[in-house]
Amino acid sequence: MREFELIRQFFQHEQADLLLEEKAQASVVLGIGDDCALLRVPANKQLAISVDTLVADVHFPADAKPDDIAERALRTNLSDLAAMGAEPLWFTLALTLPKNSPYVSEEWLRGFSRGLFRTANQYEIVLVGGDTTSGPLSITIQAMGAVEPHAALRRDGANIGDFICVTNYLGDGAAALAVIQDVLQLGEAHGHYLRERFYRPTPRLVEANLLGSVASAALDISDGLVADLNHICEASDLGAVIDVENLPLSPALLSLNDLHQARTWALSGGDDYELCFTVSPEKMPELAMLIAQEKINATIIGEIVSGSGVRCELDGEAYELDSAGYQHF
Ligand code: ADP
Ligand code: MG
Repeated sequence: MREFELIRQFFQHEQADLLLEEKAQASVVLGIGDDCALLRVPANKQLAISVDTLVADVHFPADAKPDDIAERALRTNLSDLAAMGAEPLWFTLALTLPKNSPYVSEEWLRGFSRGLFRTANQYEIVLVGGDTTSGPLSITIQAMGAVEPHAALRRDGANIGDFICVTNYLGDGAAALAVIQDVLQLGEAHGHYLRERFYRPTPRLVEANLLGSVASAALDISDGLVADLNHICEASDLGAVIDVENLPLSPALLSLNDLHQARTWALSGGDDYELCFTVSPEKMPELAMLIAQEKINATIIGEIVSGSGVRCELDGEAYELDSAGYQHF
């Protein structure tokens, strides 16, 4: 298959089916097919841009289903937009495929493109360009979104006494990887739940939108809670204490009957794509209201303190971590 035929067939043609025509027409002056895309940034908004690369057998198993790979790639990028409080607008896709491999087959590309556009439609983000090359399988997505000036959820806004909160459950990402790698066996339902969490993490866009006027700092957890919370600490020049007892664990994780393992995954496993955010005591009633109204599922897990670094405590005593998050090098 030739490069241009591949682009037209799987990435340009699909665009015609998009439910997003209205959004695309409003903001995309020129999409796929020229040297650059021409985009109209919404008036009086700031552009939020993030790029992430997923490498086969590092970020996903190379033999995973192509639509699963595509969904995960786009969803993890959408998670970065959510973490900033940005509304998704556009993305570009740089796809590297090994020559003469199963990945350049009609079947694989059809599946990949199906998963990609299913997610793009769901979250209303428009593919506006990309690059196609040969080499080891990898997927780079650059996501772009819009955010009101001064409304972005940055890492440097935490203050002493702020509560530290997380959305949904922690530790599922690491447990899911263990299930996918066949080193952990759980029942059918829990196994399915975790696999879904791995390939289809939910970018917390709705929550981020609600937290815009509530949170003082935020990020998404991709490398593990402790490692990522430490980024908030460094950017805000403060420290944090996590109450290990309060870590929210899913029924799947609890079914392990190994609380220590579950907590270790929650603290230092990667791939959760939940939001970690801080809230001042004055803003806590607003968050409590959002939680009570079930508009947002969040748990208080700790507090911002003076000093530096992240400390974990259980029953008032220091809780030692087994490992501190995923690091590439
Ligand atoms: P150039 O050589 O000028 O960089 P390319 O030949 O790489 O352009 O790409 C041609 C057009 O197809 C461009 O508009 C580019 O954005 C788009 N494109 C290339 N690969 C992809 C892809 N994987 N997904 C979406 N658009 C792509
Ligand atoms: Mg090119």
